[in-house]
Amino acid sequence: MFIYTHFLVGILIQKLFFHLLPPTPLVWILLCVLSFLSHWIVDVFSYITFHPDETYSERFPKDRFKLFVDIMSVPITTFILIYFTFFSQSNFQFFSGFISPECYIFSMISAWFVDVIDWEIIRRLAKRELISKEYYSLGVLHKSINKFREIIFPWLPNWREKKWAFSIDLGITFTLGIVVFLI
Ligand SMILES: [Zn+2]
Repeated sequence: MFIYTHFLVGILIQKLFFHLLPPTPLVWILLCVLSFLSHWIVDVFSYITFHPDETYSERFPKDRFKLFVDIMSVPITTFILIYFTFFSQSNFQFFSGFISPECYIFSMISAWFVDVIDWEIIRRLAKRELISKEYYSLGVLHKSINKFREIIFPWLPNWREKKWAFSIDLGITFTLGIVVFLI
């Protein structure tokens, strides 16, 4: 899924956590672990939204819709990252502000981190042939997400190449956005 979807899910988990639990170091660690694991559920939905398998550079410039979608995701992602790091608390203090229960940077990064590992580290290593080429397309962790989907949600239709399925992505994002702003 897009980075902003993972960010929103991380924020949602943190909001639920600190509604129920005190912000102790152990709870913070648990929060980051759970946000990291949320990637396995969230990316299952990439199967029923517009998420072509090829990388951006493989499709560009022939697929202008993919280009539009990627460009559009930049301001949304940036807004969520900045707002929920600095402006979600009334008086942000540098350093201590980052570990406030109203600062969501750690849960956002944790929820997204699977993509950092697979697309920024594993894919780059595979491209330079420092590790096997087979990891280029699906990484390591996304391979296990695929397995997870096949076992738990085998009935999901594959709409990854359908442009109209981007509307499902927007629906999910809009719903998550409303929920995190309201709770
Ligand atoms: Zn992912």
